[in-house]
Amino acid sequence: MKFGGTSVADPEKILRAAERAVRARKEGSDVVVVVSAPGEMTDELIALAQRVSQEPDAREMDVLLATGEQMSIALFAMACRSLGCPAVSLTGPQAGIHADDRHTRSRILEIRPQKIFSELRAGRICVVAGFQAVNPNSDVTTLGRGGSDLSAVALAAVLRASGCEIFTDVKGVYTADPRIVPDARKIASLSYEEMLELAGAGAQVMQARSIDLAHRYGVRIHVRSAFHPVAGTWIEKAEEKRMEDATVSSLALDKGEVRLTLVEVPDKPGIAARVLTELAKKEIAVDMIVQSAPTQAGVNDISLMTPRATSEAARATLEALARRIGAKRVDITEQVAKVTVVGTGFRRHAGIAAKMFGTLADAGINIHMITTSDLKLCCIVDARHAESALRALHKAFKLGRR
Ligand code: ASP
Ligand code: MG
Repeated sequence: MKFGGTSVADPEKILRAAERAVRARKEGSDVVVVVSAPGEMTDELIALAQRVSQEPDAREMDVLLATGEQMSIALFAMACRSLGCPAVSLTGPQAGIHADDRHTRSRILEIRPQKIFSELRAGRICVVAGFQAVNPNSDVTTLGRGGSDLSAVALAAVLRASGCEIFTDVKGVYTADPRIVPDARKIASLSYEEMLELAGAGAQVMQARSIDLAHRYGVRIHVRSAFHPVAGTWIEKAEEKRMEDATVSSLALDKGEVRLTLVEVPDKPGIAARVLTELAKKEIAVDMIVQSAPTQAGVNDISLMTPRATSEAARATLEALARRIGAKRVDITEQVAKVTVVGTGFRRHAGIAAKMFGTLADAGINIHMITTSDLKLCCIVDARHAESALRALHKAFKLGRR
């Protein structure tokens, strides 16, 4: 049972979450709980660090960040005890979660679950700090933002849990963000592939890395509300009967990326490789790389999307490169949004792409960039059209409540 920051934001919420864990224990399950830092604490800790140092040391940053989750585990375990159920808090290192030494973005190497198993055998609920682990130097390290989802899925895999419940502040995964599309529907079940695409397309429900891990280890995930005792969304293996169909399951919107274009790049072998190598060296994430066909003059444009947070670094990198490879200039377009249709079987059913583009055209919305795969159709549009694009597509694909 994983409880995110909003579910443990204050003492009342911690007690309510603990009640659910205690109930599951009393009903006979062995229970391992993973918690995040309360509320926005991780953001606050990062801001705090920046007030004493412009470039905080990564090792010390991890020592600081780990305190958020440590607060949650102690309070959660106390709450379970006050509800009459034995419980023990475990930091990531105590829980046997080992990771590499890339501070603030470590990868899990291995989990040694002996301590968890012995606590469970003694009848206690184990309350494990998400997001943190121990590295080969015996230092505490963290797993990247949203990392407690990863901790929960990894533990569920190693412990061979019957499932991994992700308790959150929404009731499940919806056909679109209900704050934008009022008749959005809760989806009963999604495949790992679809959920991974959704997470990559900007849906905030779960960290993408954790879904990838769940897929590889076959961990069934149930995303559900921490506050309402109703079924949420199951993420599991695709149903076989659906395999040959084309279905649209949901829509996502991402305003967190900007578009960069290298204009009039000489059309020569190796140029795209150099662009990507330069960005990769700086660990800048890129998405939707699109190269236009060459013109008569032997040049083409290369466009890509990159997270807003790294857009300045990406621009500087591309500008330096543009001078070396003889490209004309670098354009940056900030006011854009990515609208994604997620589903399955798109390759064999071109009608779905036709419908997406037609719907946007009917709404008078211009498309800047398009990428497609069997599982998703992505369009970059002006940011000011993002919400109306989402609503129009939701209607066109009949995703609303019936
Ligand atoms: N507290 C960490 C974060 O905010 C980990 C998590 O919430 O999953 O990124
Ligand atoms: Mg969080």
